[in-house]
Amino acid sequence: MNICVIGSGYVGLVTGAVFADMGNDVICVDVDENRIRTLQKGECPIYEPRLPEMISHNRREGRLEFTTSTAFAVRRSEIVFICVGTPPKEDGRTDLSQVEAASRDIAEALHESKIIVTKSTVPVGTGDFVRNVIEAHRHNGTSFEVVSNPEFLREGQAIRDTLQPDRIVIGTSSKEAAARLSELYRPLERPILITDMHSAEIIKYASNAFLATKISFINSVANLCERAGADVKAVAKGIGADARIGSAFLEAGLGYGGSCFPKDVDSLLHTSQDFGAPFEILTSVTAENDSRVPRFAQRVIDRLSNGGPRPLSGRSIAILGLAFKPDTDDMREAKSVEICSLLQKAGAALRAYDPVAVEKAKPIIGEENVEYCRNAYEAVQGADAAVIVTEWREFIQLNLSRLRDAMSQPIIFDGRNIYPPEQVAAAGIEYHSIGRPSAAPKENA
Ligand code: NAD
Repeated sequence: MNICVIGSGYVGLVTGAVFADMGNDVICVDVDENRIRTLQKGECPIYEPRLPEMISHNRREGRLEFTTSTAFAVRRSEIVFICVGTPPKEDGRTDLSQVEAASRDIAEALHESKIIVTKSTVPVGTGDFVRNVIEAHRHNGTSFEVVSNPEFLREGQAIRDTLQPDRIVIGTSSKEAAARLSELYRPLERPILITDMHSAEIIKYASNAFLATKISFINSVANLCERAGADVKAVAKGIGADARIGSAFLEAGLGYGGSCFPKDVDSLLHTSQDFGAPFEILTSVTAENDSRVPRFAQRVIDRLSNGGPRPLSGRSIAILGLAFKPDTDDMREAKSVEICSLLQKAGAALRAYDPVAVEKAKPIIGEENVEYCRNAYEAVQGADAAVIVTEWREFIQLNLSRLRDAMSQPIIFDGRNIYPPEQVAAAGIEYHSIGRPSAAPKENA
């Protein structure tokens, strides 16, 4: 099939590359000329495992192109995917300006029947909005269908998720559009769920809000464990063994970040409010999430305080992990930003390291009082404590004795519970984690 993808970000690029890999002819569009130039040169503008290889292969095979011209791409395509950003506005509602602009561009180029698919995460009713914008701006009465096909991929494993999604949701009242999209997705051999458009739009938000609720739930359990001297990992295992609950998303830590969960939970809160069906649970989910980093930073400050208004002045702290989660360079709503800011305000000098996100982090976290390092051992050199912010696999494999020897004071604050406390204590390091008793360093380590 001839397909066009409008918006070549994390979702658009992965979607375009995978459809091309399945044998379709795909054109990816973006308004960002630099991004398109980079892609046309054969480079990948984002870090996503397996994506650069898949893009290169399909470009070579002539199935994947990049352009800044929506009109050119739409004219050549039977199915048009909208994958532009839907960032939050200041009040927490969803900013649909990119969706609106893309819809206008599609309308301008419409000259024969098309299926317009919204893959961006959009509040319920946005499909109707897209239809209205296109109807208002098309030049003739060309027919078209608008379909909701929300995306569930996770950055860091986006190719796998796109090739093997748990389900594919197609929201439309048009039998023909549903059949055509089912045909497009059939080679993946995954469950396809056909619904009305409004239900499809809500499925995406309800899924993300439910997962966010699980995270805030286990984090609240972690707070109790800390007070009661229990181990949240053991509790999560006990809860997760119940098939009705499931073990996924029961990892206590610094809370959810990234470009999706925070904005999607906020958006659902507002949408529900606007429809007169307030979603009270989500207010608590957000409040718990917002409290995670200040609470954790306070533990660091309490342990290392020199007293005074800038209790960490003269202290050097290593920050391990900057991206919002492992296997991505995405810094949107990354917990590192808030932690670094709180520790800097308390007077600490930071030594930061991330396997891939350093360049994207620099303009966000800044370079004053932060030294960016080439690896974890360099970051902990002479530090009074190390703070683990992102659970990159390479941190799990660190040589703890080498870490201890490099530090001025061997103390780890682990915001992601990546080590068994006894292992860290056995290496002679004081260890503070989430929802588990702290461990004192073993003598003679
Ligand atoms: P992104 O910011 O990485 O990419 C969006 C791209 O759209 C940008 O490159 C931007 O320049 C381009 N764009 C904006 N307006 C345009 C226009 N009018 N025409 C052409 N291009 C335009 O965003 P993303 O992370 O890919 O997310 C896209 C959508 O998918 C959002 O609604 C998001 O909530 C949703 N989503 C994201 C993820 C994720 O993990 N990133 C997962 C599921 C769903």
